[in-house]
Amino acid sequence: MKKIYLDHNATTPVDPRVLTAMHPYFSEVFGNPSSIHAFGREAKEALERARGRIAHLLRAGEREICFTGSGTEADNMAIKGVAHSYRNKGDHLITSQIEHHAVLASCAYLEKEGFRVTYLPVDGTGRVDPDDVRKAITDHTILITIMHANNEVGTIQAIPEIGRIAREHGVLFHTDAVQTAGKLPVDVDALNVDLLSLSGHKIYAPKGVGALYIRKGTKITPLIHGGHHEHGRRAGTENLASLVGLGKAAEIAGAERAEEYKRLTKLRDALHKKITDRIERVFLNGHPTQRIANTLNLSFAAVEGESIILSLDMEGIAVASGSACTSGSLESSHVLNAMGIIPELTQSSVRFSLGRTNTPEDMETVAEALPPIIERLRAMSPLT
Ligand SMILES: *Cc1c(COP(=O)(O)O)cnc(C)c1O
Repeated sequence: MKKIYLDHNATTPVDPRVLTAMHPYFSEVFGNPSSIHAFGREAKEALERARGRIAHLLRAGEREICFTGSGTEADNMAIKGVAHSYRNKGDHLITSQIEHHAVLASCAYLEKEGFRVTYLPVDGTGRVDPDDVRKAITDHTILITIMHANNEVGTIQAIPEIGRIAREHGVLFHTDAVQTAGKLPVDVDALNVDLLSLSGHKIYAPKGVGALYIRKGTKITPLIHGGHHEHGRRAGTENLASLVGLGKAAEIAGAERAEEYKRLTKLRDALHKKITDRIERVFLNGHPTQRIANTLNLSFAAVEGESIILSLDMEGIAVASGSACTSGSLESSHVLNAMGIIPELTQSSVRFSLGRTNTPEDMETVAEALPPIIERLRAMSPLT
């Protein structure tokens, strides 16, 4: 049985080209990038090449890229780092109700420290209204953090417009671009952002590395203290091999992004059509058009999403319900709740997230596997 992986928003496999690029940096080129001898210099050059590739992907300056240990750490660093640096300026932050837990939990932590946080609502498609952002800004606001695209439903936010509003009011603006870097054009100037997070393992690089873009002149209090790594912004000897991988992954994504976006849009829309042609009472969660190409979140009325996942898993097909963080519990998704989806449908949602490994044949296999599963589960359901 060929296994089909449709959970690329949770993680992606390391691209073979990335793995090849990383290989020498485990044993041949093993120097500490902070050492001044030849071993160290060679490691340092590789590290800076990787930084240059990330900077190029984001159209940023090399000094504006700070490597981190994950997307989660980049989000924490941006939010807590700005809050602690600009505390004398204000104590208010603005975010949305559909952010990743890395953002929501960082905000909740700051609330315990005495900061105030506004959690903006979203409409039925998962979009934040930029006017709501404008209205929420006060004289005490120091940071706005709104994600570029949502990991559960794929909805893309009006980041350039929100950024313009932030700038008009002299407020710093962070976006979590973990689901868009390497997928959409992510140009920090076009997006009007001051801080931007990305993660290695969502773009075919290894787990446990990420980066935070920090616009020149933005002050960030470090989370981790120690040596003078990353220009004093994040201490600790760099994860050299994985960061070389992150650089290579950024280079590949930059070169192939546009073509891959078209290919994935076609595959995803074909999957959507095949499913709705064959199964009744299926509802799309997320924006019909302002949505990243690889993401399809559907609710199958009168069936539990978890049951669908387990049934597909037995046929070698991997999909998700809600976010990976909430799977295993029957707690419904905070994203779907915020979008105002009725409870019966939030419980019955399934996320299909496509990637480089997927083919048109995969879409047909999934669309053939689903109807008997839904029919069987609906027949057993007390809701039908
Ligand atoms: C995966 C993800 C993160 C966390 O990144 P890690 O590298 O897994 O810590 C943050 N935000 C979004 C939107 C994500 O999808």
